[in-house]
Amino acid sequence: MSKGTEHNLDHCLKCSTCHTQCPVVANYLAFPGPKQLGPELERLRLARGDKEPFEIDEALNYCTNCKRCDMACPHGVKPSYYNKEQS
Ligand code: SF4
Ligand code: SF4
Repeated sequence: MSKGTEHNLDHCLKCSTCHTQCPVVANYLAFPGPKQLGPELERLRLARGDKEPFEIDEALNYCTNCKRCDMACPHGVKPSYYNKEQS
């Protein structure tokens, strides 16, 4: 089963609810946030066929894996899962 199917990637509507609940975003404005580092980067990876090594965004180092973004998503997406997969 693909990661997208397993974790409902296509249910992400870019509503930014996860972004508003991320404690790192609230304290470090340069952090792109869970929406961009999670589902949006995963969409890019899938579109590329995931055949090339993906350039790891250094911003992922600031994610504390607190999972507040996962709990906040009203559509069942788990942004932290994709963060973890890329780090
Ligand atoms: S992952 Fe969930 S909360 Fe975050 S932008 Fe997508 S739908 Fe909204
Ligand atoms: S898991 Fe990472 S991206 Fe998600 S809310 Fe926590 S610090 Fe932010």
